[in-house]
Amino acid sequence: MRLLDNLYAYIWQGNDNNCNSYLIADALKDRKHLLVDPGHITTPFYREAGLDRLFREMESDGLNAEQIGLVILTHCHPDHCEAAKVIRDQDSALVALNQADVSMYKSQGGKVDLYLQEGDLVLGEHSKVRLEVFHSPGHSPGHITIYWPDEKVLVTGDVIFYRSTGRVDLPGGSAKTLKHSIERLSELDIEYLLCGHPYGHPGIIKGKNAVQENFEFIKRKVLL
Ligand SMILES: [Zn+2]
Repeated sequence: MRLLDNLYAYIWQGNDNNCNSYLIADALKDRKHLLVDPGHITTPFYREAGLDRLFREMESDGLNAEQIGLVILTHCHPDHCEAAKVIRDQDSALVALNQADVSMYKSQGGKVDLYLQEGDLVLGEHSKVRLEVFHSPGHSPGHITIYWPDEKVLVTGDVIFYRSTGRVDLPGGSAKTLKHSIERLSELDIEYLLCGHPYGHPGIIKGKNAVQENFEFIKRKVLL
């Protein structure tokens, strides 16, 4: 589904758990695409075809999977990162993530091409897309969130959802750290909050007021 000129959202609609994926088309050299969080190849319980479904939906938007040039992983839980291996092998895409999640990723057989730290990430010829990477740990040690200031878009991964936050009981999780990460992100100027899962809501929160209201709700009712 097209959200903005070259920003696409793929909201997971299966029955099993899988993540939402987001794509910036033509962000890279040779009109290649950036994909954030490709999700599962096949979901673990109901065996739903996550990656095939993502590719089919991309195709119906006129986007070719072979044009994926870079996969950014917000973090390395399998429901976000599993399919990155396939895209790297099939389409020669590079895989990028934060170093603090690398052992988790390698233990799943993943290979890494680039490490992303907090700071600017400038993509494409003529610096077409300028992103800001935030290190946002708490759900996982190497969790990153991706901010696109020109479009006021924040891709949150599993840091925040509609009226809830990511789990902190998984290895390397910390409630205190997550709270700090969320407080930092709430200072950004955001029109589109793109969450990592469709938990009780598609996971796309539109409009500055709705985004702020969601942060306020989380700070008041969820973070203690
Ligand atoms: Zn996760």
